Amino acid sequence: MQKEPKYIVITGGVLSGLGKGIASASIGFLLSRNLKIVPIKCDGYLNTDPGTMNPIEHGEVFVLDDGGEVDMDFGHYERFINIRCKAEWNLTMGKIFQSILEKERTGDYLGKTVQYIPHVTDEIKSWIYNIAKREKADLTLVEIGGTVGDLESDLYLEAVRQMRTEVGRNNIMFIHLTYIPIPSGSKEQKSKPTQQSVKILNERGLEPDIIIGRCSRLLDDKIKSKIAMFCNVEKEAVISGIDVKSVYEIPFNFEKERLSEIIHKKLQLYSPPDLDLWNPLVANIKKNHTRPEQQVNIAICGKYTALEDSYASIIEALHHCEAHLDLQVKTSWVETTDMEKGSVILEKVLKNVQGVIVPGGFGIRGIEGKIQVIRFVRENMIPFLGICYGMQLAVVEYARHICGIKEAHLREAEADGITGIVPVIDFLPTQRKVTKKGATMRLGGYDILITAGTKAHEIFADKQIRRRFRHRYEVNPEYVPLLEEKGLIFSGKAAGEDIVQVMELPGHPYFLGGQFHPELTSSLSNPAPLFYHFVKAASEYSQS
Ligand code: GLN
Repeated sequence: MQKEPKYIVITGGVLSGLGKGIASASIGFLLSRNLKIVPIKCDGYLNTDPGTMNPIEHGEVFVLDDGGEVDMDFGHYERFINIRCKAEWNLTMGKIFQSILEKERTGDYLGKTVQYIPHVTDEIKSWIYNIAKREKADLTLVEIGGTVGDLESDLYLEAVRQMRTEVGRNNIMFIHLTYIPIPSGSKEQKSKPTQQSVKILNERGLEPDIIIGRCSRLLDDKIKSKIAMFCNVEKEAVISGIDVKSVYEIPFNFEKERLSEIIHKKLQLYSPPDLDLWNPLVANIKKNHTRPEQQVNIAICGKYTALEDSYASIIEALHHCEAHLDLQVKTSWVETTDMEKGSVILEKVLKNVQGVIVPGGFGIRGIEGKIQVIRFVRENMIPFLGICYGMQLAVVEYARHICGIKEAHLREAEADGITGIVPVIDFLPTQRKVTKKGATMRLGGYDILITAGTKAHEIFADKQIRRRFRHRYEVNPEYVPLLEEKGLIFSGKAAGEDIVQVMELPGHPYFLGGQFHPELTSSLSNPAPLFYHFVKAASEYSQS
């Protein structure tokens, strides 16, 4: 007989941005040795998925192998739990309502008034139960987005409250992440915000079994007792969520306070944490963040530089390289919108930089600045990594300055009113007639064939790889012969299709680009090869 599925529900209180996704992922990491863990994220917004949202508002759009555009927390889940997540594991109120309205039109509720309770809460529960069942999950982690008290998350809270009776109290537990501030002018940690946010949960009929308090100093005995007493939890179940240099320290910190044991006590599913693989890697990152063996300065030239969350997976991929190359990567953000005035500024901006990343992007804001940056690093032999849009711009730069096509541009620029262009980057044929925006790009994992004898072949050490994509445009096949004749090498092609997937420039220490997003499949134990070799080249450049 299959064991009864177990559930852990993770909520957040007091503030947003406390790291609920990473806390959930860390819990998953700690329990994943013997258990099949399935993370579900419940978002309160009415978009079907975050695919059409601006990353400045919502952080990076993470792309799954199955093509799902999902919340950035799925990046943490995949990196920490070592699983391949699925699009349907990201619930949104948009999806829930869409499904309910479709059922209503079909007549599934005939004769009934369709209501928040029970219809919306039933729909939420059935999504969660069905996923747990289909995946044969031993443990389903249900992370509820937002902060308790937000109107948007109330229906999810009501659904998980009902679940407690349905699945049995021994099969579900509640973990609440809160904030324990030390107000300026005081030396004391304060529990009141936690008490108040637990009260909000209590009003919804929920009681946390574990409270994780985000803090700048380990929670002492006194504050743990106080929280235990006012919030009805065991004192051992009040855990410090101390600020860290590297997020990969978090599971280790939780474990120091016996988190997995406390979960086991309640749910009876002990799966002793496996910390051995990460231990030396985390130690290496920590060491290099305090006493770096070497510091490598990487500039990221993007549009959403105001919010680091927009590039969360890129930052993580760089951390993965730090662990393996025994160095510290210092990233600087270059806002190319202000840069379109001349190379003087450019030289200043890139003065101490040993590597440049031009990440994925859309539209033309800052584009000429990026093209100038790419020209500069190409000519000055500074390592360069172009990701998706970044690779497309490297091709535009090469077409303009080496192939002599002055009007070379992205087809995408026409949507922003630029005319008279030569589209060296053009629509993917399948995209020409697409008019709807949601989930219509070329999305998800595709196989790539790597040409033998190229730098890409050396880097990937494989003739076929699989990577994730999110794009509408490609290198225009009409211009490939000319670009190749002038020296660019297209070293990766889509399996079975004529789409350029990897670009490189021979004779340069490192000038590579991928139409895919290498950052999405990088992990602490297995850094993305395009990043690893890029950072290695940057470290060699800094030593030369
Ligand atoms: N805007 C480009 C395209 O759609 C690049 C997308 C990206 O960088 N993810 O092809």
